[in-house]
Amino acid sequence: MSEPYDLIVIGSGPGGYVAALRAAQLGMRTACIEKDAPLGGTCLNVGCIPSKALLESSERFSEVSHDLKQHGIEVEGVRFDLGTMMKRKEKIVSQLTRGIAGLFKKNGIDRYEGHGSLAGPGRVEVRAADGSTQTLEGAKILIATGSTPFILPGIEMDYDRVGTSTEALSYPGVPEHLVVIGAGVIGLELGSVWARLGAKVTVLEYMPKLLPFLDEEFSKLAHKLFKRQGLEFRLGVKVTGARAEGDAAIVEFEDENGEAASITCDRLLVAVGRKPNTEGLNTESVGLKLDGRGRVEVDDHFRTNVENIWAIGDVIRGPMLAHKAEDEGIAAVELMAGLPGHVNYDAIPGVIYTHPEIANLGKTEAECKEAGIPVRTGSFPFVANGRAKALAQTDGMVKIIAHAETDRILGAQVLGPRAGALIAELAVAVEFSASAEDIARSTHAHPTLAEVVKEAALAVGGRVIHM
Ligand code: FAD
Ligand code: NAD
Repeated sequence: MSEPYDLIVIGSGPGGYVAALRAAQLGMRTACIEKDAPLGGTCLNVGCIPSKALLESSERFSEVSHDLKQHGIEVEGVRFDLGTMMKRKEKIVSQLTRGIAGLFKKNGIDRYEGHGSLAGPGRVEVRAADGSTQTLEGAKILIATGSTPFILPGIEMDYDRVGTSTEALSYPGVPEHLVVIGAGVIGLELGSVWARLGAKVTVLEYMPKLLPFLDEEFSKLAHKLFKRQGLEFRLGVKVTGARAEGDAAIVEFEDENGEAASITCDRLLVAVGRKPNTEGLNTESVGLKLDGRGRVEVDDHFRTNVENIWAIGDVIRGPMLAHKAEDEGIAAVELMAGLPGHVNYDAIPGVIYTHPEIANLGKTEAECKEAGIPVRTGSFPFVANGRAKALAQTDGMVKIIAHAETDRILGAQVLGPRAGALIAELAVAVEFSASAEDIARSTHAHPTLAEVVKEAALAVGGRVIHM
């Protein structure tokens, strides 16, 4: 048995590794257990980072192939080399994961490679790949074990022809026909990557519309734009089974009319959500409570029902986002140290890194109406913005939802160029309880895309200028 730690973190994703770093900064003797060889979790290894690397590369290819002509630039013989694209992606991932190992070293965090499981009060067992075990003691334990893809019943995975986002980040060649189950964030991002590189992409979605968490007009606009980019959608269909057969994958579903149908394709991507990682954690040994969806139950301060065990990130309630996990990690550790850690769930932006990008924050207009909150909204399209015209990227708009009486910003949606960067201003506004008028009266540089945000804020007060 080693010296007791102040904190043992299980999992080194953005939640766990950031929590470990903050704990070390606060002077805690900290250990982090990770079962995989590289640190960084889903986000760095098989999530945010590799997907964004491929989205960027494929977008550059698509831009050079289709969008430069209008600028008077003629390019002939455009080709891509998938091997180089994949190597670039892998290099970015390895630089970043090695960076975390360096930060651990610099901050004196002990890293244990192996599977962590709860082994009684204040104890965690680490089982290494060779089967050897050791037990660590810690005053506090933080569960940050993240999530893995959810697999629908009836789907026989071979993790090759029928796979998850992990396989779709490393296909050895461009599929001729890729079928994606789920028109969610992964379906749209990775569907876009492979469609840009030449695959026929068919997306099967259970719901009658794309991205139901957006306002109706945004959901419809996104549908129209992705269709224009060549993605084919079958909405309102129910997948009943799938399997690999030789070099093909077969997916069976009930079509829009409830009739049995099937598609044979060469790759099938299952992207219907993710499930929390609690298997093998030995939660029963300490009586740790899970909620109805298998997530570790926590209170507002990330405390579980067991004293000195805390949990954050994808393994608890809330959106499965890297920055949400990071901020919860920091807040949890600060609370452990007696500091006022806090996460404002109304100010967490979500971004889909398609082209154009789609970003959302807080409540939709429909959610406000449902909750009986009186709202005023303001929208402004990119087509009326000088910078968007210069970029030749005029699709989309910004919408701001504000309280009808106080003018306080309650939500915002951006569909358009650099939406992920534009939503940051609105997230800060929500954090500071700003009103739409605060944004409308702030000077925004000209000509910038940010002026669309300002005009949408002006529109809330009925005094838009450039329309
Ligand atoms: P994870 O990142 O899942 O990390 C958990 C870690 O714990 C893993 O390394 C796992 O190996 C380890 N672990 C689990 N159990 C044990 C155990 N018993 N013992 C030891 N170690 C264990 N989010 C965004 O915000 N932006 C994006 O652009 C984005 N893109 C994504 C793209 C894809 C394809 C996917 C799949 C996800 C994406 N996400 C994105 C979601 C994001 O990756 C997750 O929300 C985030 O990684 C959650 O962080 P976490 O620390 O809670 O868990
Ligand atoms: P998701 O929840 O975004 O989308 C899943 C989709 O599958 C939904 O539209 C759902 O209606 C559909 N679906 C469910 N069951 C179905 C069925 N039987 N047949 C057809 N469709 C069905 O989940 P995801 O795309 O797998 O992503 C998982 C998580 O990873 C998300 O929570 C997301 O936040 C995170 N993620 C984030 C980013 C980002 O922030 N840019 C990128 C990728 C993933």
